[in-house]
Amino acid sequence: MFVEIPYPSEQTTRSGWVEVICGSMFSGKTEELIRRLNRAKIAKQEVVIFKPSLDNRYHAQHVISHNANAIYALSVERAELIWENVGTATVIGIDEVQFFDNQIVEVCTKLANMGRRVVVAGLDMDYTGKPFGCMPELMASAEFVTKVHAICVDCGDIAHYSHRIVNVEDTVLIGETDSYQALCRKCFVKKTELKESNQVLGVSSQVSIVSN
Ligand SMILES: [Zn+2]
Repeated sequence: MFVEIPYPSEQTTRSGWVEVICGSMFSGKTEELIRRLNRAKIAKQEVVIFKPSLDNRYHAQHVISHNANAIYALSVERAELIWENVGTATVIGIDEVQFFDNQIVEVCTKLANMGRRVVVAGLDMDYTGKPFGCMPELMASAEFVTKVHAICVDCGDIAHYSHRIVNVEDTVLIGETDSYQALCRKCFVKKTELKESNQVLGVSSQVSIVSN
């Protein structure tokens, strides 16, 4: 489990940093973000939380994790709006960070350079298993990277793929519980190969081929 390094109270001696919490759908990224931010609040640090405004699955003013543990967040359309709304907060949380534009890396870097603690949570891979948007750059430049895992719904192994179970090609697809499942490497490869062979044969990807 991630244990916070002491955050100095003296403004002049303070050095900031970036923490990345990444993983697939259902891996508990948001729960981990909320856990860290709540601990910062207990330590009486000023905390502000942002999320991209396209993520309106639940209440627009809250980051809500899947276990209904809610925390207040500000919905913003662009990364630079984080910079404009951060105020005097010493701890900045960002949920669903993969959906922000590329300026997000610069914003996080500038905040850390100013002495702020920046904690971001996001999907590291899209549904095809490719790195998601700004995540590689954020993970490379962060001081701390925590990869959390889901459980494979097919075999019970640890899972780090978000397999899409509906036929839509867009990278951004909200409504995760109905549209995705967490899979381990073995089960993801098996299902991806089946989907590709079905596409070659012109069969719907949700229909299994039965051969005798
Ligand atoms: Zn599996």
